[in-house]
Amino acid sequence: AIGIHGAVKAFGEHVVIDGVDLALPAGSVTVVLGPSGSGKSTLLRTINRLEALDRGVVTVGGEPIGVRLRTGRNGLPRWKALPERALRRQRSRIGFVFQHFELFPHLTALENVAEGPVAAGVPAATAKARARELLDRVGLGDRGATRPRQLSGGQQQRVAIARALALDPSVVLLDEPTSALDPELVGEVLGVIRDLAESGTTLVIVTHEAAFAREVADHVVFLDHGRVVEQGPPAQVIDAPQHPRTRDFLSRVH
Ligand code: ATP
Ligand code: MG
Repeated sequence: AIGIHGAVKAFGEHVVIDGVDLALPAGSVTVVLGPSGSGKSTLLRTINRLEALDRGVVTVGGEPIGVRLRTGRNGLPRWKALPERALRRQRSRIGFVFQHFELFPHLTALENVAEGPVAAGVPAATAKARARELLDRVGLGDRGATRPRQLSGGQQQRVAIARALALDPSVVLLDEPTSALDPELVGEVLGVIRDLAESGTTLVIVTHEAAFAREVADHVVFLDHGRVVEQGPPAQVIDAPQHPRTRDFLSRVH
């Protein structure tokens, strides 16, 4: 489960996340929609603390991410940043898939998937065996020795998804995982995400693929100017949006 409580984030004067509260149950699939600049990526990045919040806290499985509660000198509780190592351990349980894949170009597909576990201390042979299973799962069992440059965009993104799963995360965050792909490659990546959704991993997906959202999402969140304008099941938010901003947005992406 993911909890976002009173989240506020500004870059300089510009408030990008403006008081977001969300409760996303374990095993649920949430799709985040919203116009460009509405704060979708920033919100996703606060979940694994690639961005630190100015106010509020994020919890995953009930555990605050990147902070712990301490008693201040005045006797009141306050959030204190966790040491980098503890944060890295927390992050390793939260998979992240980027729009532009962000694979290591000098490593093979298999090495890209095994790299995280090896860095976390898993023996190389174990990490590679597991990486092979994961590549199989995304339909790339035969491409382990290939470098990213020699793979299609859809294949690279499937490697990136396998990599995000390498440390058995309870949560996977996907930021526009198909928007950099040629249209004919979108389906193969959505197929892998659909399987992931059915496997019970908690997913948060930023995507403009409304048809896909309608099919896989338990919950749709519409963000505008850093605020949750509307949220609910897809049948409500996508098919019968209440808020004019949601309606306007959907009429443009459909
Ligand atoms: P898009 O659909 O274009 O990906 P988004 O909804 O993901 O947009 P964000 O990337 O979260 O939007 O950005 C929200 C706002 O915050 C934008 O105005 C952006 O310019 C600003 N912003 C994001 N990251 C930073 C940063 N590191 N420094 C300064 N401003 C930032
Ligand atoms: Mg974005």
